[in-house]
Amino acid sequence: MTDRSLKPWGRHALLTVLLFLGACTPEPSKTRVDLLLTNGVIIPGAPGAPGGNVMAVKEGRIVAVGGPELADCFIATVTRDLEGQTVLPGFDDVHSHIHSYARRYIPLQKITSIEALKGAVQAKAEALGPGEWITGYGWSEDALTEGRKPHRDDLDEAAPDNPVLLTRAGGHSAVANSAALDLGEITLATPQPEGGVIERGEDGRLNGIIRERQDLLAQYIPPPTQEELKESLTASLEALLPLGITAVTHASERLERWPLWREIYQERGARLPRARVQMHWEGTEAMARFKASAHEGLDTDRLSLGAIKIFADGGFTGPAAFTKAPYKDMDDYRGYLNLPEEELRALVDEVHRAGWQMGIHAIGDAAIEITADALAKAIEATPRNNHRHYLNHFSMRPSDETMAQMAAHGIAIAQQPNFTYTLAGRYSTYLDGWRLAHNNPVKSPIDAGIFVALSSDILPIGPMVGLYAAVTRKGMDGVVYGADEAIPLEEALHRYSYGGAWLAFREEDRGQLVPGQLADFIMLKRDPRSLDPDALLTLPVEETWIQGERLWQRSP
Ligand SMILES: [Zn+2]
Repeated sequence: MTDRSLKPWGRHALLTVLLFLGACTPEPSKTRVDLLLTNGVIIPGAPGAPGGNVMAVKEGRIVAVGGPELADCFIATVTRDLEGQTVLPGFDDVHSHIHSYARRYIPLQKITSIEALKGAVQAKAEALGPGEWITGYGWSEDALTEGRKPHRDDLDEAAPDNPVLLTRAGGHSAVANSAALDLGEITLATPQPEGGVIERGEDGRLNGIIRERQDLLAQYIPPPTQEELKESLTASLEALLPLGITAVTHASERLERWPLWREIYQERGARLPRARVQMHWEGTEAMARFKASAHEGLDTDRLSLGAIKIFADGGFTGPAAFTKAPYKDMDDYRGYLNLPEEELRALVDEVHRAGWQMGIHAIGDAAIEITADALAKAIEATPRNNHRHYLNHFSMRPSDETMAQMAAHGIAIAQQPNFTYTLAGRYSTYLDGWRLAHNNPVKSPIDAGIFVALSSDILPIGPMVGLYAAVTRKGMDGVVYGADEAIPLEEALHRYSYGGAWLAFREEDRGQLVPGQLADFIMLKRDPRSLDPDALLTLPVEETWIQGERLWQRSP
């Protein structure tokens, strides 16, 4: 298969440009539109399509893009002088994870001191009132300026009247306060639990740290209500708008959580980014029953089922990515498949035969080669025209044979170039030489004829770090990893919008600023093509528009 992104821009486009090539006829035969953007830099995100300075929008769709003379062709309800701002297609983040939490939960990953942690716990206690549980995840003594673990006394100071349990990054230990220990009836007399440790401090008292057996306390925490999960999921979706994300694929979801998504989108889907949801597989019949009514009452332009999610292996944070050669300095350790190879092959074949699209997590080169081959064999056994199966991550470059096999079978990739930046430390710990230099390859699979879409996952969510890394191939450590895998910015932008639309089978409607497409676009103060790549890392989005409606604007 050739790279579909190189297909010429839409058929609507040619028509419209022909219509407006000549001088416009005088009023009253000017065309009426809802929105006319003038005096901007329009980047259409479509190879070969002319950009321009003016864009006209009617009923949520783009009707024309062109030079300044185009402005005279329309009467607009709203005309907006962009004063030189840049307009580009909204980002379609085709692999991310949209979190939803209980109200009691505090994300701790970005907290850098025990003082700040205490402040967050205190604020939460005030918000919830006495007696309510407070939970959190993600602290690490390595990231705290005090250089020590938070203790029971710290939490008692912050929230004496609420039970508190904060889990360390990685999930192998947690710290509790006195109220939580009391609830769990854990005292100095409690025997050490099987498989875990209740720590004592230097003063002989319990310091609140419990290793491996946080369940001793977690069992008392009530589950979150539907209402609070809904509130939190909605807030997480709204938080994508300031990042310029107009469409997102939530990469992993259980069937029983689908009603939550439905409810949110039925109530306020027009105010949120478009979403697709990758579901876990529960067997051909159960999935067919589920699919039959999943979209009932939904605007599928706003929310729809995505590809089936399968995990072939783990990642480099475990580390559990399944590699062909042993990890660097780890004897013969190669990670492992998430399920036996024969089971993986049978599952891929079953899902393919049932007619679903698959987006399979595969990170290590061995996992990638097995998964690509499993998909290819399933496609050969049951040919399907337009499956658009893809591999998520593709963090290690596989053999040229595998890339040729993927191209020949139309197997695509959802790549996260930002991993090269954020996970540089992990890769250089576990990989070396050629395989380190080609982590998260972008250019080589494109050259092999594979369709590559770009996305961000959650490291962090948002396209700017990925755009920076796609162009520079720089890690957080400043090292350039495999400059031959870099691509130009304009192409990276295209793959961050059109790429996701294509994997969602919606490329006729979204992903490019050409006539006929939905008006999903963002504004930036400056043309990113004219910036030093370093500036991309902190480049703010000014406005985010979906279907001709402004859903978010940066406060000045
Ligand atoms: Zn992910």
